[in-house]
Amino acid sequence: MSLPADTFRRISIIEADITTLDVDAIVNAANNTLLGGGGVDGAIHRAAGPGLLAECRTLDGCETGDAKITKGYNLPARWVIHTVGPVWSGGRNGEEAALRSCYRRCMELVEEYKLRSVAFPAVSTGVYGYPSAPAATIAVETVSEYLNHSSFIESVFFVCFNSRTREAYNAVLQASHGQ
Ligand code: ADP
Repeated sequence: MSLPADTFRRISIIEADITTLDVDAIVNAANNTLLGGGGVDGAIHRAAGPGLLAECRTLDGCETGDAKITKGYNLPARWVIHTVGPVWSGGRNGEEAALRSCYRRCMELVEEYKLRSVAFPAVSTGVYGYPSAPAATIAVETVSEYLNHSSFIESVFFVCFNSRTREAYNAVLQASHGQ
């Protein structure tokens, strides 16, 4: 993958707790119920407060590979995009297509809601077990396709919560730059 300079410029890799970010939208790595869970999902619900769960109850869950949007409630972010990543089960069960679909659906919502900044956690790479390196490649490739054709979106943050994730994103971006 080779990223155009204008796309590369709009992508940042940061180490942060995603719940603290003042961006238009943060993405939640949710489960099919959308009613909260552990990991980043639990952290987002705790920080957003009960209004988020109340709105999620009205959404009737979410299919794997799809995404739904809610308001951000007590978060600094205005919106939360809830996406449901695949559970890794060896890699031959449609996991890659499902993870691509997550990032694609999130970016479709970013465009639809005319958002200028969005922050993604490393979807599926926690308890769902997706290996970090291929997950980072999918994330950067899929998001870049949108940035390449949309100048409206100003900033995409890939939020790393551990060094394994950070190294995976750094490797993908270094390999893709300056060619
Ligand atoms: P999944 O079930 O999709 O694997 P997890 O929440 O278990 O979701 O993990 C997804 C990623 O989110 C992991 O890389 C994990 O380290 C990271 N993560 C957990 N908490 C936070 C947080 N507060 N901010 C950003 N990333 C987080």
